Amino acid sequence: MRLEYPMKENGMYILSKKNFDEIATNVLLEYMPDTLNYPKATDIEYLAEECLYLDIKHDYIVPNGKVLGMIAFSDTQFKTYDFEAEEKVIEMQEGTMLIDMSLIGTENRARKRFTEAHEASHWICHRSYHSPSNRQYDFRINNYVACRTENIEAYGVKNKIVKSDNDWEEWQADSLAAALLMPKDTFILAAKEAMNERGIWRGYLSMQYDVQIINKVISELAHVFDVSFKAAKIRMLHLGLIG
Ligand SMILES: [Zn+2]
Repeated sequence: MRLEYPMKENGMYILSKKNFDEIATNVLLEYMPDTLNYPKATDIEYLAEECLYLDIKHDYIVPNGKVLGMIAFSDTQFKTYDFEAEEKVIEMQEGTMLIDMSLIGTENRARKRFTEAHEASHWICHRSYHSPSNRQYDFRINNYVACRTENIEAYGVKNKIVKSDNDWEEWQADSLAAALLMPKDTFILAAKEAMNERGIWRGYLSMQYDVQIINKVISELAHVFDVSFKAAKIRMLHLGLIG
C-alpha cells in the first residue's frame, strides 16, 4: 500500500489530523471492511500479522520499561540490557514488531493493543523514511524505531511540543493507531447511541452538564472498541463528542 501524500525530502510524510482517518479507512476497507460497518474492536493482531505480514514478538526491551514497542524496517540488532545490567542483543528481522513483555496480561490488554496499532502504523507510514533500500544515501537514520512509553496513547496531549522528525513520527503513528482502533464513523455512531440511551440527543457530551454520565459513556466505548479509557476519551475530544 502506497500513501499518496506529500513527503519531505527525507521520506517523512506530511500528514494532518484528517489524513489519519482517511488512511485508516483505506487500510480497514482493504483488509477488514466489517470494522467499518458497525462498532466493534479492530483485530489489530490479525491486521498486523495476516494483512501487513508483520511478525509479533515479545521481549523485555529495556529493563526500566521505558520502551513499549519497536518495529524493524530491515534486519537489525537492538543492543540493550537485561535485568542484571548485562548487555544483550535483540535480533529483529525486517517486519518484526517487538512488544514489551510488561504488556502481557489481561490488565494491560488495551495498552498492548494500542502499542501494536502504533507499531503497525509506523510500518504503514514510515517505511519510506527508514528503509535503507529507499534511502541509501542517508545512513544516519536507524532501521528501527523504538517507541517510548510516553509516546504511546499520547496523540492528544495538547502541550506536547512536536519539533523533530522523531516527534512527528511518533505523533503520526499514535494518531493513526487511534484511527485504526476507533474508526471515525463507527466510533461516532457508538458514541451517539450511548448518549441517546442516556437521554442526550444533542450529539455531544458537556463537561459541565453531563458529569454524571460522561465516564459511563467513555467506559462503554472503551469496552466496545477494546481500548483504554484514556484512548477513548482522547478520541471523543478529538471528534468533538465532548465539548
Ligand atoms: Zn513509535
